[in-house]
Amino acid sequence: MSTEAATLALKKTINLPKTKFGQKANLPQSEPARLKKWADMNLYQQIREARAGAEQFILHDGPPYANADIHLGTAMNKILKDLIVKSRTMLGYDAPYVPGYDCHGLPIELHVERKLGEKKANMPPLSIRRACREFAANALKRQTRDFQRLGILGEWDNPYITMSDHYEAETARLFARFVERGFVYKGARPVYWCIHDQTALAEAEVEYRQHKSPSVYVKFPLAIDPALIDPALAGRKVFVLIWTTTPWTLPANLGIAVHPDFEYVAFERGSEVYIVAAELLDAVVEMCARGELEMSLRQQESENRFAIAEVSKPKILARFPGARLDRLECRHPWIDRPSLLMVGEHVTLGGEADAESELDVKEARGKATTSKAGTGCVHTAPGHGHDDFVIGKKYGLEIYCPVDNAGKFTPEVEHFAGLNVFAANPKIVDFMRERGVLLFSEEYDHRYPHCWRCKNPVIFRATPQWFIAMDQTGNSDVERDEDGRDRSNFTSNFTDGEILDGATLRAMALREVDERVKWIPAWGRERMRNMLKGRPDWCVSRQRVWGVPIPAFYCRRCNDVVADPEIIRHVADIFEKESADAWYKREASELLPDRFTCRKCEGNEFTKETDILDVWFDSGSSSIAVLESRDNLHWPADVYIEGGDQFRGWFNSSLMVGLAVHDRAPYDTVLTHGWTLDAQGKAMHKSLGNAVSPEEVITKLGAEVLRLWCVSSDYMEDMRCSDEILQRVTDGYRKLRNTARFALGNLDGFDPFRDSVREEEMLEIDRWALAELDSAIADVRAAYETYDFHLVYQRLHQFCTVTLSARYFDIIKDRLYTFAPRNPARRSAQTALYKIADALARMLAPILVFTADEIWESLPQDSESALLSVHVAMLPETRGVDNTELLNAWAHLFGYRDLVLAKLEEARIAKLIGSSLEARVEISAGSHAYEHLGRHLDDLRYVLIVSQVDLLEPNAEIDEDEVNVTVTRAHGEKCERCWNYSTRVGESSRYPTVCERCVLALAEIERN
Ligand SMILES: [Zn+2]
Ligand SMILES: [Zn+2]
Ligand SMILES: [Zn+2]
Repeated sequence: MSTEAATLALKKTINLPKTKFGQKANLPQSEPARLKKWADMNLYQQIREARAGAEQFILHDGPPYANADIHLGTAMNKILKDLIVKSRTMLGYDAPYVPGYDCHGLPIELHVERKLGEKKANMPPLSIRRACREFAANALKRQTRDFQRLGILGEWDNPYITMSDHYEAETARLFARFVERGFVYKGARPVYWCIHDQTALAEAEVEYRQHKSPSVYVKFPLAIDPALIDPALAGRKVFVLIWTTTPWTLPANLGIAVHPDFEYVAFERGSEVYIVAAELLDAVVEMCARGELEMSLRQQESENRFAIAEVSKPKILARFPGARLDRLECRHPWIDRPSLLMVGEHVTLGGEADAESELDVKEARGKATTSKAGTGCVHTAPGHGHDDFVIGKKYGLEIYCPVDNAGKFTPEVEHFAGLNVFAANPKIVDFMRERGVLLFSEEYDHRYPHCWRCKNPVIFRATPQWFIAMDQTGNSDVERDEDGRDRSNFTSNFTDGEILDGATLRAMALREVDERVKWIPAWGRERMRNMLKGRPDWCVSRQRVWGVPIPAFYCRRCNDVVADPEIIRHVADIFEKESADAWYKREASELLPDRFTCRKCEGNEFTKETDILDVWFDSGSSSIAVLESRDNLHWPADVYIEGGDQFRGWFNSSLMVGLAVHDRAPYDTVLTHGWTLDAQGKAMHKSLGNAVSPEEVITKLGAEVLRLWCVSSDYMEDMRCSDEILQRVTDGYRKLRNTARFALGNLDGFDPFRDSVREEEMLEIDRWALAELDSAIADVRAAYETYDFHLVYQRLHQFCTVTLSARYFDIIKDRLYTFAPRNPARRSAQTALYKIADALARMLAPILVFTADEIWESLPQDSESALLSVHVAMLPETRGVDNTELLNAWAHLFGYRDLVLAKLEEARIAKLIGSSLEARVEISAGSHAYEHLGRHLDDLRYVLIVSQVDLLEPNAEIDEDEVNVTVTRAHGEKCERCWNYSTRVGESSRYPTVCERCVLALAEIERN
């Protein structure tokens, strides 16, 4: 054999990696192909069959609103759900996933209205509903396509749709259930009202934004003899001072509330006497001074009397508890009617009473630190505020609301009739100033509720609405909440159904939140508690057409309302066959049972309610309408996961429905995820140009990158995204992919059945790799169990880059490439690699759904991988052996390795060596270190990736755990085949250019 021929042959004897698993992923192209494959093999169904009979795990999907294409937040939400479903499936559960769509409601109706323009006015509700239905169906189709593109598996051909006939019927039936339980009433009370969209809004439909309002201090003259309060006030002109930031509600003022236990003072200011809370006196006096200064500046040209404001100490004429003012009377500052003094516990010294709105925990905390404002005497307009309403009812005041649907004053409001309330604000301020009833006014910047849809500020306005009572037990007349407030039902209550041991919805809800539901993160409990404690009765009626109509009737003769559970169920059965459109298609008589007559007057003609149900009632019905209606699901759900906005929204409405039907929460665990933000932590907006579009990411980088981004940081916090962040995620993806590729490439020709080496016969370092794999598996399983997906990623990333890439793979390369293919030592490494690649595919599968499946396909076949997709497989399990000693020993060894690698790097920089194989390492070790290294003497050159290691006799002058490392050039010649240096190159006449190891390997290859 000539030298030249031998050289060629040598190259061919190297086991180079070979795999169809490419270095480049080409995700944008390969993902759709794999999706098609999954669809063709009906993968979702295969998973169902594989898990049939296993314990069920139900993640119930919060339905996205079907009115627009998906954005990054929706994509993240759905991917997180998929991560939960897939990881539970691979943990062995039967975890079906039924996606849902929320289809009714204002945004779609408004969109359709805009499209119809003028035409809309003349269109019957049915035509508008048809257009809405079509619009929602289209949006739903596009969303389905996009969600599937993200690799999310589920019953996409059979989702739940809130506008389906069955769902609409179920929604109506659940309303019947609330009626039956005695939770429903109709009455006038203040609700959030959008004057732009002209509809009531739910708590979840308002959002707090900064808003500038006029802050005014107004004088209400006392209408009784002030000596009744204190003899010192006899004969004085006394005023009660109120403070408000909504001057437009002053025309509706019917009273003033004070706290019964606070101390109030009457102080002298010029010729007048003012009453305020003692604690706020100084602040009010300052306002008086500023008001007078302002007034004098206005009048400066004519007079100059008040050039300097007087902030001198006020003269206090009397001190008394607020209780002494109870039921005394003031006059309205400009309208000829009384304003009643009342006492209420809701009065605070912190400015505006917030009880009418749920503020975030965070916000409430921030609020507590703001300075005190107000006077301790609260302007009360029962038609325009929750607390005002409650105290107004208690004192028998009218629920007076002289503002129409469009937010304009009704004709009875003198001076301001026809004016929009916000436009009226400055005019009312000027008017009061002219009248001399305004003490001071300034611009006030505060958090104010705005409509979630049109972003305009909303108002609080009393209108006749349908409510679900939070504090109603069924038949008792007056209920008080824990603050002693009257929350009584004040109109007819349509129950003669059962009453559950006096438990109110609020009490039951708080019990479930505290005792049953697990909140992740744990602050969810406090947040839900706070939301529930403060929320008023749930206003479930909307003055719209795109939704489930409230199935109630009115007697034409006596106007009695018919909202009877049996009748509602009768109507629901019609919806089941004809959809809720039947409400608009049929006459009342065709919706009511035959020969139905009014229970009061026996009249037989009825009209239909025109309001529809709040869309949150629809989506809140899903747990019953879906989980209980489908055979393959169960109620309650194991998990709900949504963004933090759903505490007021879906988490809440679902809880109410669960309580009404089964007296318990519809979920065992509630997870909350954060928001998607840009790299600077700002919200994403198309207009700001900082929005990351999922579609663009998918076409440029692949859905896989988006999925990996979802686990790149803790989703329970806010998630930042930008091109740069996605680039980092892509780099992370490459590392995982390259790790898998190395393993797969070196499994070429390996048959796990035939070639696997029994563990006790494996090389120690290969057993160490399996021990490390065990540790990774344990961590990953635990992180999947607790939904800490970012920990899965961090652990796998560390395992791939540090344990495998930087250590294990580096060390076994020589063995894999240069040993005879079937050499037991090589088979030992391959056995480890096979187990690693197999486990990696499974552990990555919930996250990298496409790539893990590709790894799975590229694995050498064995009985398990006969499963057609990794998604049918289970997560790997640890071998259940104690690896501690092995892991400790090698951790120790790798400590020494790091020292040596540093020395080798120095030698490389000093140009002493090029590659580390050109090095010989001389180690002088302390006794302990010597013992340790000596035990792995044969492995050392491989572990250190050098040609020669010389471990000197233990050195007593070196600390027992320390080593001294000297690097020199390796002795001998470079082996042409394995590039190691050896003094024995040339010994073989047959292969004169190779080392003694290669001579043996070549002989082995020739034998086979
Ligand atoms: Zn609006
Ligand atoms: Zn009647
Ligand atoms: Zn060699």
